[in-house]
Amino acid sequence: KILLEVRDLKASIAESGEEILRGVNLTIREGQVHAIMGKNGSGKSTFSKVLVGHPDYVVTGGTVIFKGENLLEKEPEERSHAGLFMSFQTPVEIPGVSNIDFLQMSYNAKRRKLDLPELSPIEFFGFLSQKLSAVNMNPSFLNRNVNEGFSGGEKKRNEILQLAVLEADLAILDEIDSGLDIDALQDVAKAVNGLLTQKNSILMITHYQRLLDYIKPKYVHIMDDGLIVKTGDISIAELLEEGGYKAFSAE
Ligand code: ADP
Ligand code: MG
Ligand code: MG
Repeated sequence: KILLEVRDLKASIAESGEEILRGVNLTIREGQVHAIMGKNGSGKSTFSKVLVGHPDYVVTGGTVIFKGENLLEKEPEERSHAGLFMSFQTPVEIPGVSNIDFLQMSYNAKRRKLDLPELSPIEFFGFLSQKLSAVNMNPSFLNRNVNEGFSGGEKKRNEILQLAVLEADLAILDEIDSGLDIDALQDVAKAVNGLLTQKNSILMITHYQRLLDYIKPKYVHIMDDGLIVKTGDISIAELLEEGGYKAFSAE
């Protein structure tokens, strides 16, 4: 079943009008893991931000259908409630709010949107315990303030926990490998792989093929100059290793 269908998506920077996405096509089915790779400045982050409705960009053409509905006419918050999740390159710290309170507020906000009763603290803790073990996280995270004093790797894992709690259908993970050492990367990958047993789809965006050693995508897309110029299986990433991105130029 198709989860996300992007057709000929064009988008520009709101302020300057400069076109960045020049006609992106991408189809993601339920339960699939896709990776978008591409050199710096090729439009990967712009693409992910356009999908979640970031106000810096204006869509000038094309369509995006998510779960059978027109994603582009929804507000960013509605996109999130519809089941789209994006990890932020620099997660916010929320002083004075514990992780468990933040997760419970987020989860109950989602339940209200779905006209479901809120979970009590005890019910929520039961739900959360399953999620913690799915993503392999220590319960000691819960009583710390959101992202305050977290290491880079802990912040990323905390986002994967947020993703698990929100039970998003599609998670866009933009450079979750950036700034992580190999041990932290393995922990984050373990958390993501723990989620993948649960029929979510993932779009991971990365500059480096190292991430793909730990989270295996079914499809790899190469983006260059605002276009997906090549799609294939993981062997594309191996070609990149040998030839670099110049082997996949949009020209
Ligand atoms: P990537 O994530 O592949 O490195 P980006 O999507 O971040 O690429 O950027 C693509 C191009 O668009 C770059 O030239 C970048 O400078 C430009 N760009 C993206 N967002 C903005 C913005 N908000 N304001 C100005 N330029 C931007
Ligand atoms: Mg970049
Ligand atoms: Mg980027």
